[in-house]
Amino acid sequence: PTALYLVPTPIGNLEDITLRAIRILGEVDVVLAEDTRTSGRLMQHLGLKKPLLSYHLHNEHQTVQRVLDRLANGEKMALVSDAGTPGISDPGFLLVRECLAKGLKVECLPGPTAFVPALLKSGFGAERFTFEGFLPVKKGRQTRIRELQQETRTMIFYESPHRIVKTLEQLAEALGPERLASVSRELTKLFEETVNGTLPELAANFAARTSIKGEIVLVVQGHKEERRAD
Ligand code: SAM
Repeated sequence: PTALYLVPTPIGNLEDITLRAIRILGEVDVVLAEDTRTSGRLMQHLGLKKPLLSYHLHNEHQTVQRVLDRLANGEKMALVSDAGTPGISDPGFLLVRECLAKGLKVECLPGPTAFVPALLKSGFGAERFTFEGFLPVKKGRQTRIRELQQETRTMIFYESPHRIVKTLEQLAEALGPERLASVSRELTKLFEETVNGTLPELAANFAARTSIKGEIVLVVQGHKEERRAD
């Protein structure tokens, strides 16, 4: 029997949850939540009431043993993150690894995650891509960016609104001013927006805004791909 379910939740639009996700959330004994208030609101919206246990990056190491003991005792749990798929730039990997090591069965439901719609809306090659998550903020940042100079696959980054301009500028510096990119903001939400252009064009576009709101996925075309013909 499955002990742990990884359950994706909406990244904005509350309609984006699968029937199976709703069923599993209703069947488990406990919901492990990155933020119990955020997930509590979702559970309420779905008309479900379950004990919520806090499970986030900062307590992952301390919590994992207690969670494993309860799973080994036969409790069923669902892990959810604030938005999207747990384990994708969110906690989860450690728990999955430890469950597998203990012979506990893990299932992952398919569902919303921000990088898939951003990749497809970019119009860049999706046959091969690399998910880079968040670039390091300080240490290792330039090294990582340099490592991507020759990357031929489409690159996907998660980024915060207050760092997007800096990231676009630094990538333009390293990958060249001709490189095409795509910024998707507020995916599935009311003010969803995708802007395509060269890295410097996008940097200028976002630098000119008085404020940048919402969450952002940046997609960058790979090296040596066919360039825009204009
Ligand atoms: N687990 C999530 C997933 O499956 O996509 C990602 C969690 S990560 C902590 C949060 C980042 O995901 C944001 O900084 C942003 O880069 C991206 N993101 C999440 N929701 C988004 C949305 N609605 N629109 C654009 N980007 C989003």
